[in-house]
Amino acid sequence: MAVFMILTIFLIATKLSSAGYCDKDNEETYSYHGSTNGPRQWPRLFPACNGDMQSPIDIQTNNVRRDRHLDKLYFFGYNTLVKQATVVNDGHTVMITPRDNVKRGITVQGIDYNLQQLHFHWGSEKYPGGEHTLNGRKFEMEAHFVHNSSDGRTAVVGVLVQAAKKDNKAFKPIVEILSEVLYKDDSTRLKSSLYFNKLLPASPASYYGYTGSLTTPMCTEGVSWFVLQKTQTIGYKQLDSFLKIYSVKKEDRSKECLLAPNNRPLQNLNGRGIYASP
Ligand SMILES: [Zn+2]
Repeated sequence: MAVFMILTIFLIATKLSSAGYCDKDNEETYSYHGSTNGPRQWPRLFPACNGDMQSPIDIQTNNVRRDRHLDKLYFFGYNTLVKQATVVNDGHTVMITPRDNVKRGITVQGIDYNLQQLHFHWGSEKYPGGEHTLNGRKFEMEAHFVHNSSDGRTAVVGVLVQAAKKDNKAFKPIVEILSEVLYKDDSTRLKSSLYFNKLLPASPASYYGYTGSLTTPMCTEGVSWFVLQKTQTIGYKQLDSFLKIYSVKKEDRSKECLLAPNNRPLQNLNGRGIYASP
């Protein structure tokens, strides 16, 4: 009887879990919805994920250190048309990698970081998929612009994205090709003009900065995070296009194997300082 009860409770709990459980995800090195390799298992599988400077975190805006002298973020090349780029569903996210040899990136404290790729973390209104939170507030989506310096340092610009009634034109070049990357390992190219600066909110130079990690295994630490203070919007209909994306190949699709929400749970701050630029 007890076994039956436990089984019933387990089945109910499984059914109530946000994204369902995707058996196929367990074949990945890591996943968001596998039973053996989901975020709670990462610290066991990837030792760095157990570190004390991990991301994402909640940003308590009353506790940030405001520093008038802190450099603002300077973006270069973001306003140049992305002439060529590959768009890939890698089973964990949708990633856009520019292939047009344009120098794009950020300069902060005199160091240039070159843009490598842009990817997204997303979820629904009910299960928001943004990673960082602002005073505990969750966002439906977060865009990560990943940069590397010539000496191998990583800097990520995080843009918090809130769902809104009105479509955001800036996302059109991305949303319109999502139906071509519905399944793992699908890849495609952009169809219309994409400008990365249009994906940034107004006044992107102001940020919350802290030292953290990659939010996916290997969870490598020493990452300079710049979460922009201003947020961005995406239309509900546009977000729906992201919500149709799977974490598995077409032959393995089932509604449990949708990619969203693909966000890592919040990590402890462990005494780290968060700096707010002017
Ligand atoms: Zn990310």
